[in-house]
Formats: sequence, C-alpha cells, structure tokens
Amino acid sequence: MSINVEPLRKILELEHKKGYLDSAVIGGLDRFLHNWVGQATETSPQLLNRFHKLHLVDPNYASLTKQQRKEWVKGVLDFLAEVEHREGEKGEAKLTPVASQPPSRTRVPRTVVSQSIDSPITVIRGISSSLATKFNKLGVKTVRDLLYFFPHRHLDYSQRKSISQLTEGEEETIIANVWQAQEIRLGGRRSTEAIVGDETGNVRVVWFNNPYLAKKLLTNTRVVISGRVSLFNGRHVFESPEWELVEDRELIHTGRLVPLYPLTQGLRPRQVRKLMKGVVDQWAWQMEDFLPPELKERCNLLELPQAISQAHYPEDESVKDRARVRLAFDELFLLQLGVLSKKRDWQESQPGSPFSAKTPVLEAFIKSLPFELTTAQQKVLKELLADLQKPQPMSRLLQGEVGSGKTVIAAAALLVAGANGYQGAFMAPTEILAEQHFTTICQLLSRVGYQEGEEGYLHSYSGVLSHPLTVALLIGDINQVRKQELQQRILDGDIDIVIGTHALIQKGVEFRRLGLAVVDEQHRFGVTQRSALRQKGFSPHMLVMTATPIPRTLALTLYGDLDLSVIDQLPPGRQVIKTKWLKPGQRDSAYAFIHRQVASGRQAFIICPLVEESEIIQARAAVAEYERLSKEVFLDLRLGLLHGRMPSSEKDKVMRRFRSGELDILVSTPVVEVGIDVPNATVMLVESADRFGLSQLHQFRGRVGRGREQSYCMLLTQNPSEVARQRLDIIEKTQDGFELAEEDLRLRGPGEFFGTRQSGLPDLRMAKLSDVGLLELARSEAIRLFEQDKGLEKPEYSLLARELARVWPQAGEWS
Ligand code: ADP
Ligand code: MG
Repeated sequence: MSINVEPLRKILELEHKKGYLDSAVIGGLDRFLHNWVGQATETSPQLLNRFHKLHLVDPNYASLTKQQRKEWVKGVLDFLAEVEHREGEKGEAKLTPVASQPPSRTRVPRTVVSQSIDSPITVIRGISSSLATKFNKLGVKTVRDLLYFFPHRHLDYSQRKSISQLTEGEEETIIANVWQAQEIRLGGRRSTEAIVGDETGNVRVVWFNNPYLAKKLLTNTRVVISGRVSLFNGRHVFESPEWELVEDRELIHTGRLVPLYPLTQGLRPRQVRKLMKGVVDQWAWQMEDFLPPELKERCNLLELPQAISQAHYPEDESVKDRARVRLAFDELFLLQLGVLSKKRDWQESQPGSPFSAKTPVLEAFIKSLPFELTTAQQKVLKELLADLQKPQPMSRLLQGEVGSGKTVIAAAALLVAGANGYQGAFMAPTEILAEQHFTTICQLLSRVGYQEGEEGYLHSYSGVLSHPLTVALLIGDINQVRKQELQQRILDGDIDIVIGTHALIQKGVEFRRLGLAVVDEQHRFGVTQRSALRQKGFSPHMLVMTATPIPRTLALTLYGDLDLSVIDQLPPGRQVIKTKWLKPGQRDSAYAFIHRQVASGRQAFIICPLVEESEIIQARAAVAEYERLSKEVFLDLRLGLLHGRMPSSEKDKVMRRFRSGELDILVSTPVVEVGIDVPNATVMLVESADRFGLSQLHQFRGRVGRGREQSYCMLLTQNPSEVARQRLDIIEKTQDGFELAEEDLRLRGPGEFFGTRQSGLPDLRMAKLSDVGLLELARSEAIRLFEQDKGLEKPEYSLLARELARVWPQAGEWS
C-alpha cells in the first residue's frame, strides 16, 4: 500500500515560503495534519510509528515558536523526500491515472470455462437481468458487446488545478479537502453544499437535487472534483460537478480522461462508468488478438486488449488516438477482407456470359440519340463494354452526379445484352423512378426502332434486334393476373428488358437467360439485394449506379467487390442552380417567388418536411401540407401531390400531368425525390432543409436546372443550429456533389451516410471514412494478406479467419 504524500509536502513547502505563519492552509496546520495523518495511517499503518516520532499527529504547531516551526517543517520535509523516493522506486503512481497494463497471468483469476467473451452480460458480477435488459436496448448483449460499447467521447479532466488557479467557464479538476458538507435547499429542492479547500484556497461546490451526497462527503475526506467553474456572487463555484473520493484506486469519474457512454433510460453515468471499468479490467485481457503479429508490427498498431481498454479509460490523448486507430483499422481491414473474398467467390466460382460488343445495334443506338455522349460517358461505356466481353461476370459501380447521364449508358448496356440473346433487368429504388426509366428507355428505343405493340406496361420495337425487342415494367402493384402473365413471359424469355422495383428480386420472378442486371441509386439497395438479383440469373453481369459521389478509396473499401467507373462531367450547357437557405420568416417571400415563376410559365417542386421513416405517416403529412398549400397559399395555382402510399397508377397520372405542364406545383414527400426529370421545372423548395443531409439536398436540387431557364433551390429551415447553418452555407456556395458528400461524411458519419446497417456491411463505429490514410492502409494490408493466403488457411491466420466469419456471418450467401 502506498500513500500520496505530495499534498502534505506542498503545504509544508508553502508554509516555508510564507515564513512559518501557519497560513498555508485554511484552518491551520494542526487541523490539517490531524486529518491527513488519520487517512494516511489508515492506508499505511506501518508509517504510523515514524509519524509519531515526528510529532506529525500532534505537533501543536500553532504554539511553536518560529524557529521551532522551521526545524519541525524541515524534519518532516526530509522524511517525506525519503518516502517519495522509495515510492518512486517501486514505480507507484498516485493521483495520476495508473496505466492499465495487462496484469501478469498469475494475477488474473482465470474465468470459469463456461464464461466466455460471448456469454451474456449477466455473467458479469453486478449485472442483474433488469440491468441487462437496459443494456440490450443499446444493442449490448454479450461481454464482447460490452467491451465494444465505447464511449462516444471523453471529458478531459486530466489536468489538475489548484483552487487559486481556477478559471471561470473552464472545465477544471481539483483535489481538495472537504471542510464541511451539508444538505441545503436550492430553488426549493434538497441539495448538497460543500466547502472544500486545498493549500491555495477554498471553493464552494453545490449539487442540485442530491441531498444524499452530504452524508458521503465527510469532513476531512479528500475529494476530486471535476466540472465547469461558474461564478456566483463574485466567487467561483462548481455546480453539480463530477466527484470522487480519493481512495487508493484508480479514478474513474474525475481527474483523468473520463468516458461518456451512450445512455438509455435507467442507466446512470456513474453506474455505467464504474461497471465498465470493472468489465474492462477483468475482460479486456481475455480478448484474443486476431491480427497477425507481423502486420501489427508493420502498421505500428496497439494490441487488441490494450486498444480496448485504452478506448474506454485512456491514459492520455495520444494513447486514446492510437486505440481508436487500432480499432478502426480492424473494422476497415475486416470489411476489406470480406468484400475481397466476396468478389473472388463471385468472379472465380461462377463463369459469366461473355457478350460480343460488336453489334450494329449499339452504333445505331448511339447515333439515334438526341445528343452527343460526353467524353466521360464514352469513356465509361468503353469500360463497361470491355467488362461485358470478359468470361467473368462484370461487377461495376458507376458513379456520376445527378444529371450526368447514367441512364443512357445503362440503356446501351441493356441493348448489348439483348443483341447477345440475353435478358436484361433494370432495378430502381421506387416505382416512380422505375416508371420513369421505363418511359425514358422506351423513348430512346423508339428513335432506333419502330414501336410495334403496346399493352400497358409492355412495349415492343421492331428494327432493333433480329426479333421484336420487348421492354416490360414490373412493379409491385400491377394487378395479379397481369403480373403473373408478365412473370411467365419473363420466364419464357419472351421479354428482353425488364424494368422494375425490388419486385424484380422477389420470389416468382425467374428469368430464362438473365445476362445483365442494372441497379440504380445504389445506396438504397444493400449488398444482399444486389446478390439476390445476381442469383436470378446464371452469373449475370452486374452494373450498379449511384449519384452519391463517393471518394474513390472509400468506394473501393465499401464496395470493394465492385470495380469503379466515374462519369465526372455533366452534359454541356448545364447551369448553376441558384441556392439560398431561408429562415422561417422568409417563407412568404419564398411562396411569392414561386408565384412569380409560375406566372412566367415555369413549374415548381415543393418537398414536404421529413417527418419519419414510416411511409404512412410521411404520406399523411404530405396530404396535410398539400391541402394547406392549395387552400391557403396557392389558391389560384394547380397543385399535384405525390407520395409513396399512392397507388402506382395515381402517381403515374400526377407525374404525367406535371411533366406535361398541367400542374404548376408538385408537392412531394422526400421518399420519391430521386431521379424525376422535368425540364420546365425551375424551382425546388425544400421544407425543413436542416434535417436532410447535404447529399440529399443536392439530389433534390438536381431535379431542377435541367432545361434552359435559370433555376432556383430554396431551402427553408426551422431552427437551424450553428452546425446546420454552416452546412447550409456550404450548399449555397457549392454545386460540387463530391465536396458535399465529404462534408456529410465528416458531420454525419458513414453509417447514416451509406446506411451500412441496411446494406449488410459490418458496422463501422470507430472508423472515420474521412481518414483516407487508414483506409488505404487497411486496403493494402488486406490485399497483401489475400495474395498470400486467399482462404486464410495458414494456422497463423486461424484467429483472423474466425473473426472474419463472425463479422461477416452472411458471407455464404454471396458466394
Ligand atoms: P442521371 O445520371 O442523374 O441518372 P439522367 O440519365 O437522368 O441522369 O440524365 C439527365 C438528363 O440529361 C436526361 O434528360 C438525359 O436525356 C440528358 N442527357 C444525358 N446525356 C446527355 C448528353 N451527353 N448530352 C446532353 N444531355 C444528356
Ligand atoms: Mg438517374
């Protein structure tokens, strides 16, 4: 056992400096010593003898002469120097947090075999089933989950101040003596007030609503206080700070980097902190480190147990960062290994269907277009064609800004499939978009061929292929009879191109010869849906399209199973869309602006406030907004309403009327925002814009500015926070989707941005996708490992293989 003699030494030094006037400590040295010795001998009884000799317990300092005081102080200081020296050799640290080193094996009580890292948290002492339920709500079920239940941030209480150094408004930490603590009433509520002091002065501390503390803070106990310093009646005061008694154990609430955990109802911060400290100390060392040692060394990564424990209770900022790096590396590395093996399985185990790209149809199609392909489109088309001719199935991500012209590229690829005698499928995230793609592709085809027949959602064209080319739309709510008929014809190989929603991947849809699958707006579909579509055919080529500009490294990491093509250029003549964010008070002027635009023949979109993920509630809100606008704001204008719950025929009707100019304003929910193309629309008004991501706002904005007229985007806000204001300022200034996406990533994190949760990708908690360096490192290490031992069959990789199987449980589905 050791004691901390530093405060005593400090006080005696101060006393020496002040000239032995017994003024170093409030209340006088006698009182202080009495208390201090009481505590010290409790922790270290063997010192008691020495203290007696020095008259430390009862020096009667107050009654000594100055010379006597001087000698006495010197004697004690010498003695303390000796104690400190000895303690230093033993390597004991005191109030500074103790570095959590792995205790030697002998000290760790090996746990009973039945309790493993994957046992439910109830195996942990102190976790009752009711507490476990609360943790379960946070997604924490096993001991492992708990170890990976990281604080969302830390408070830096590591710098200790003396009371005289306290600064108003700062987060500060002091170590002080309790002079007195009592229950008082503050604002009618039972609270605690304490006066604490150190060698430099006293300070008042209050805890609102917490009368019980008064009993815990006994006079003369030593306490650590961490919190914000405020000013009351011209004096410093701590208001409801964190506190902790100084005992001979590590501090967990104060005096260090203190973790703040995500909480749920019924979990108290102090309780969780205390519990986590115990869990980390007992269990972190039992985590098996699955990274190969030479990799860890090469990348200078912390050991896993150390990283976990430091992520919770870090020694200092720099180790905390290293812990985060290690854990983030794990996430990215495992993710990368997963996607690499998925790609390998996909490409190696299944032979694809090589197409011939030398088909007159393709040339005729490109010639028939009402515009010239941009250089970027041509380049991407070339990349696609090269893939399609290979015996391995294509697996490509096509990325291009809103309006960069992805659809026409997809159409070209689908035609090539048709020309090779294969079927093509085109999957869109919403019915409206599927319908629009259907219309667009039919229009394009009618320029190369002659429309022969049209039965509802089935068109056929002659003069394109050697047989009539048939294009069908398959969406959820066409009638059953029609649907079954369509499905039969798809199975018979009677239909060349099928365009639809996820209805395409549902049971009952079977293709005869699916050769190419195109998926639009990738971020709405997950890995699993992608693979479901793959399974519809005999290893079809796969083209995934997204308007979300993802930085290249990121795309390779998250969609490492896909090769990447980018359309990095907009068709010529695209205009800058004037963008402005407005405060609630400016709503009327926004409406007036729409009035004026409509008066000069233009049309406008109004995107309703984002209410909730539920489509039903969202739809209801849209109806209400539509009625309000129709009855109160735009009485003389023609308004249309579009939401996800409307029957498809209804949506189609509204869309058609809007496109043909029969409607002036289209009121729409955010769910149906993507991809709609109406060149005469020049105004986009987005309600509660501060609640959307910048990328999404950019997508909304992309709905206008498609024609020749100057277009505008107005972003109405409710009560934007400072951060929201900054973001809105950014979207006002830039039209660069890339920049906006990066900003989103920085502010919202990858999970939300990519919907990794739904996408079937493992969770990324520690990894920041903006950390390109680490992404690249993880990727290159994964490739290196993969090249050495694809199946992770070597014994030194067995732990890693097991970890991989754990985080990618669905891996089997993909091969
Ligand atoms: P997105 O990439 O957002 O899916 P679209 O494919 O919907 O973009 O194209 C947007 C608009 O641009 C469409 O009206 C399309 O006809 C037109 N377009 C596509 N390529 C070109 C081009 N090379 N030149 C001019 N207009 C083009
Ligand atoms: Mg599109």
